[in-house]
Amino acid sequence: MNSHPPLTIAIDGPSASGKSTVGELLAQRLGYLYFDTGVMYRAVTCVALSRGIPLTDEEHVARLAEQMQLDVLPPTVNDGRQNTVLADGSDITNALRGSDIDANVSLVSSYRDVRDAMVERQREIAHRGRVVMIGRDIGTVVLPHADLKIYLDGSVECRAERRYKENVARGDQTSYEEILRLMRLRDGLDMGRTTSPLRPAPDAHCVDTTTMSVGDVVAAIEQLLE
Ligand code: C5P
Repeated sequence: MNSHPPLTIAIDGPSASGKSTVGELLAQRLGYLYFDTGVMYRAVTCVALSRGIPLTDEEHVARLAEQMQLDVLPPTVNDGRQNTVLADGSDITNALRGSDIDANVSLVSSYRDVRDAMVERQREIAHRGRVVMIGRDIGTVVLPHADLKIYLDGSVECRAERRYKENVARGDQTSYEEILRLMRLRDGLDMGRTTSPLRPAPDAHCVDTTTMSVGDVVAAIEQLLE
């Protein structure tokens, strides 16, 4: 690896394209902070649902995003989690992967004021450098000057299959067909929204992970770093 590795690495792509596994491994190897921005939008959705805030009430949801105390920490429990997410001091990490969140998070993340509040916090974190930040708009909006930009993609069937296997391992019973349906829906909403749609930055390196193992993808990125 070269002696001046990039200080900020942006990894974007649709769900289950491998961002989190690859991003975490890469961060470990480099000794960088791994930061998954998706959990922030999931946390806003989770808290809004638990408080009974109608998710179609954009202003109310935006006010919540601006005011809630949100902390994304390194894992505090050894249960395979990648981070610990605290909302107003409560650990909500395990609630963030439920299908109720999957089904609603793209609506919440499409609101401009919600995004502005989250992006501001994400930039503060990245400002310290030595970070692998993953999401949907990191290379395009959050860190347009990131030192290295990667866009991971893969066929929707392959991504749904990966998510299905992950869920089975966690004891989640959601069927493959339902995961595929929700994934298509979420892809469409994330790519079609007006504010910060999911797409590769013009200077991103695109990697199709459909037939690649995690090791292959990390090796491909490490080649880019050299
Ligand atoms: O990556 P993850 O599946 O956890 O992201 C959940 C949702 O959060 C995405 O489907 C997307 O709607 C939203 N998101 C976003 N911008 C990011 C990260 C996630 O809009 N940077």
